[in-house]
Amino acid sequence: AKAGGRNRCVVFQPAMRTQVEQRVELLREVRLGLEQGEFDLYYQPVVDIGSNVVAGFEALMRWNHPEQGVLAPGAFMAAFEDTDLALKLGEVAFERALGQMRAWLDAGVDFGRVAINVSTEQFRSGRLAGEIADRLARWGVPPSRLTIEVTENVYMGWGADVVAQTVCALHDTGVLIALDDFGTGYASLANLRQFPVDRLKIDKSFVQNAEDDAIVRAVINLGASMGMKVVAEGVEKAEQLATLSRYGCDHVQGYHFAKPMPAGQVPAFVSRFSAS
Ligand code: C2E
Ligand code: CA
Ligand code: CA
Ligand code: CA
Repeated sequence: AKAGGRNRCVVFQPAMRTQVEQRVELLREVRLGLEQGEFDLYYQPVVDIGSNVVAGFEALMRWNHPEQGVLAPGAFMAAFEDTDLALKLGEVAFERALGQMRAWLDAGVDFGRVAINVSTEQFRSGRLAGEIADRLARWGVPPSRLTIEVTENVYMGWGADVVAQTVCALHDTGVLIALDDFGTGYASLANLRQFPVDRLKIDKSFVQNAEDDAIVRAVINLGASMGMKVVAEGVEKAEQLATLSRYGCDHVQGYHFAKPMPAGQVPAFVSRFSAS
């Protein structure tokens, strides 16, 4: 027998069991949290650089955890991957966002568009486009008020044809398509022509790293030449904003303007921003 073999087992087993136990516990809590309605969206403004108006908001999931307070996706999103819960969370996102948009439309809040993040699991059934169209109709929200954000990897995985069909169908109704985290995944430039893409989102890792300046500039030029608007996320500093503006970036999003906020704070943000 190899020396240490038994030791390895003794050392590793408890740690592994703990990890599995943790995931099971998280899944149990997440299921319960969904039932209790503890998941809701925060909204982060996206600003049009040229006109300095709020172009819209990105809807970002939060978990109002009974003991731990407001949790961001980093603390819970992994539990949803490859489970039926991802579909449930997707439904929560659309219902919360569309209900909120309906309320803002009724109240005359000029929120522009709302962007919702969509995960791979949501494309799997092939019915996503129809479901979104139904929800929009049910809430009476015009499709032109909605953007869906899809990462490159969604385009690259299983069933690219299902994804393409879904995205094309949505695009035909007037929903905008944003390619999220552009440059961090495996998509090639050819993908940009295969699917309708209205917005290119530059990942914050590029925006915040001065060494990636050439990448940022290249993505902005690429978007412009392909007729897409380019959105830079993670803008925290005035210098970053100035650089992006100089390069001709269309939209910016980041703590420099505002962190994601509860829906209740959006009307005041919009009126304060348009007055400034
Ligand atoms: P993402 O789609 O790339 O969203 C942008 C993330 O950057 C958000 O993190 C946002 O809060 C953060 N952010 C924005 N501006 C700044 C900044 O200036 N500085 C820094 N440090 N961060 C900034 P968040 O809210 O934690 O969400 C993380 C990820 O979780 C999202 O990344 C997205 O992939 C996923 N996600 C969030 N909500 C949903 C959802 O409803 N459905 C799905 N499928 N995924 C979601
Ligand atoms: Ca996003
Ligand atoms: Ca992003
Ligand atoms: Ca990102």
